[in-house]
Amino acid sequence: MTTDPSESSADLPGVQDGFQRLWVPHRMAYLEANPARGGEPRGCPFCEAPRKDDASGLVVARGTHCFVALNLFPYNPGHLLVCPYAHVPEYLDIADEALAEFSAMTQQAMRTLRAASGCHGFNLGMNQGSVAGAGVAEHLHQHVVPRWSGDSNFFPVVARTRALPELLEDTRAKLSAAWDDHAA
Ligand SMILES: [Zn+2]
Repeated sequence: MTTDPSESSADLPGVQDGFQRLWVPHRMAYLEANPARGGEPRGCPFCEAPRKDDASGLVVARGTHCFVALNLFPYNPGHLLVCPYAHVPEYLDIADEALAEFSAMTQQAMRTLRAASGCHGFNLGMNQGSVAGAGVAEHLHQHVVPRWSGDSNFFPVVARTRALPELLEDTRAKLSAAWDDHAA
C-alpha cells in the first residue's frame, strides 16, 4: 500500500476543491451585483443608459431623480420607459421625492407622445418581479406604450425590422425635442 501524501492529496482533496470553486464565482457575481451589499450594479441597462450621451443611451429627458428613455425593444414605436436613477427593484422602494417626479414624467411622456405621434391611447405599467414578467426586475421602470387603432397587426413586423436602430434614434430625437413643450 502506498502512503505517499502527494498521491492521496491528488484524490479526495482535489475533487472537493474543484466542486467548491464551481460555486464561488457565481456567488461573488451575485454579491457584487447587489447594491444592498455595497457592490456596484453591473450590466444593468437602466443604470448604464443615463451615463451615456442622450443618443447612445436613447435618453429622451433627464430629471433630478428620474429619466425617460426609449425602450430598445419596443412594443410600439415611441415605447418609453420612465426610470429612477436609483437601482431599486420595486415601486415600494422609490423615495418620496423621486416618486413625485416619476409620476410627473409619466404624465409628460403621455402628453409628448400624444402631441408628437397622434396616438389614440396608452398602456402604462410596471412588472414587479421576474415572475410578473419584468425583463430587468432589479431596476424599476414604468412602460409608457402609445397605442393606435389596429396597431397590434403591424407591431410584429416593426419589431423585427433591421432598420429599427435608425428609427429609434429618429424617434428619440423627435420626442426629446418636443419634451419641454409638454411640462405640466
Ligand atoms: Zn440599475
